[in-house]
Amino acid sequence: MVNEAEILKLKKLIGNSRRMVFFGGAGVSTESGIPDFRSQDGLYRQKYPYPPETILSHTFFTEHTEEFYRFYRDKMLCLDAQPNAAHYKLAQWEREGKLSAVITQNIDGLHQKAGSKNILELHGSIWRNFCMRCGASYPVEKIAQSSGVPHCACGGIIKPDVVLYEEPLDQAVIERSVEEIGSADLLIIGGTSLNVYPAAGLIDFFRGENVVVVNREAPAKEMRGVLFIDGKIGEVFSRL
Ligand code: NAD
Repeated sequence: MVNEAEILKLKKLIGNSRRMVFFGGAGVSTESGIPDFRSQDGLYRQKYPYPPETILSHTFFTEHTEEFYRFYRDKMLCLDAQPNAAHYKLAQWEREGKLSAVITQNIDGLHQKAGSKNILELHGSIWRNFCMRCGASYPVEKIAQSSGVPHCACGGIIKPDVVLYEEPLDQAVIERSVEEIGSADLLIIGGTSLNVYPAAGLIDFFRGENVVVVNREAPAKEMRGVLFIDGKIGEVFSRL
C-alpha cells in the first residue's frame, strides 16, 4: 500500500511543475485487463511455444504469419478494454494544461479512449492496419473478424501498424518524443520495466529537475534521484 507521504510528495511535484510529460508502458493497462509482458500474470509466464517477443518480431511475422495472427488476435487485440484511472487522470492533466504529452509504448489505444490528445505512440497502434502491397488502410475489425492471415482485396497481406521487434521506430515520433522529454520539468514514468530499447533510452533526454517512477517493481534502468512509488498506477493516480 502506497503511503500518504509519497502521495503528498508527488502532489507537490505536480503542483510545482509547469510542463510535465508522462512516459508509460504495458503496466498502465494491466488495471484495464490487458496483460503486460513481465508481471506475474504477464505474457512471459503464459504457456506459448515461443516467448512473446519472438512472436512479435518481424522475422516471425514473415515466416509464421498465421501463427503470429493466432497469438495477436488472442492476446493483443483487447478491443473491449476500457481506460482506467491512470489513463483518465493523464487526459485530465492535459486538459488542465499541466501535461504536454503522453509518450507510450502501448499499442492498445486506451489513452485516446480516455481523451488524451497529444499521444506519441512509440510502437504504433492495433487500431491502424494496412495492406503491405497496395497500402490500403483497414480498421481493426478486419483483423479481428477474419481468420488465418488477413488479406486485402488486392491479395496483399494486411499488417497491423505496430512496430515489431527488429523494426525501426518512426523517426518523427522519436523526434517529437525527444523534444517533449527534453523540454519537460517533471517526468513521470509508469507501468514499464524499461527493458525495451530504443524506447527506454528516450528518458535520457530529460533535462529537468524531477523524475517520478510509479511501478510495481524497480525498473531495469538505473536512475538517480528518483521518487519511486511502488504501487498500482491506477490506484496511485486516483489519489492525486
Ligand atoms: P513490461 O511488461 O516489460 O513491464 C511492465 C511493468 O509494469 C512491469 O515492471 C510491472 O511491474 C509494471 N506494472 C504492471 N502492472 C502495473 C500497474 N498496475 N501499476 C504500475 N506498474 C505496473 O512492459 P513494457 O515495459 O511496456 O515493455 C513491453 C513491450 O510490450 C512494450 O514495448 C509494449 O509495446 C508491449 N506491450 C503493450 C501492451 C499494451 O499495449 N497494453 C501490452 C503488452 C505488451
